[in-house]
Amino acid sequence: MSPGTIPEKNEAGGDIPVKILISKRGGYCYGVQRALDIAQRAAKDSPSPIHTMGPIIHNPGVVRELAEAGVSPVERLEEVTEGTIILRTHGVTPAVITDARSLGLAIVDATCPYVKVAQEKASFLGGQGYLTVILGEHEHPEVVALVANAGEKTIVVENAEELDLGQVSGKRVGVVVQTTQASANLAALASRLSPACRELLIFNTMCNATQKCQDEALSLARQAGAVVVIGGRNSANTTRLAQLCSEVQPNTYHIEDVGELRQEWFDGIETVAITAGASTPPEQMEDAASWLSSLG
Ligand code: SF4
Repeated sequence: MSPGTIPEKNEAGGDIPVKILISKRGGYCYGVQRALDIAQRAAKDSPSPIHTMGPIIHNPGVVRELAEAGVSPVERLEEVTEGTIILRTHGVTPAVITDARSLGLAIVDATCPYVKVAQEKASFLGGQGYLTVILGEHEHPEVVALVANAGEKTIVVENAEELDLGQVSGKRVGVVVQTTQASANLAALASRLSPACRELLIFNTMCNATQKCQDEALSLARQAGAVVVIGGRNSANTTRLAQLCSEVQPNTYHIEDVGELRQEWFDGIETVAITAGASTPPEQMEDAASWLSSLG
């Protein structure tokens, strides 16, 4: 859906045009759409029961729908005794794959190809004896899997300031980035590391989809008086999108569902931008636009 203009009443009762800018890049990214297609195919073709390691995407509504189709999440492999396990977009540690095989489970790998590349680079750095610095969220499953691939000589930092330069000084250092990180974060880390290390090898494993969605969201946020960001609160990708938009436009609202929208947020606002995280069905942006168009 392209950006559109809809009428809304002003305080005097006259019509004023409220412009709604809908992101073209928001909503399901390539990796999430691929994982959902894989899960739906598995629901039809694979031996049951079928489970995912954790929710397949950070979207409670979609996870519920998949459970109704026979694909339900488990937190630990030990909860599964037979059937199929689907590896989600964030990927898992090599140990999980080994354990699943030894339990005799069928494995369907829905790890996003971009995450796979990050895992391969982490594994390469570990194998070559680099001290691996992973830029990402400490407990995020994607980062946990990256650490497992890189091996023991690994440091995780969420931002450049968190880095203890004493740990990297004079060393051969390699960098891998959680796919959903913002490019400014990587730039700051690179400039902090470069004067300190003996050798520095950086793999920019950020995902294009994330970067393009963020760039577009920021451009829309600069044109708008309010921004609506739709997606799970447990979604790192959506949370970061909302954070970036709020730096440009303080009237940024992160919602999980259109039912959370409040009329007073948009009083006197002429332009509203709508975007969504990578685990959000794109239709939800159109639902939000319809809700906004019904105001007044
Ligand atoms: S945001 Fe990028 S890395 Fe993550 S699942 Fe989507 S395409 Fe893959």
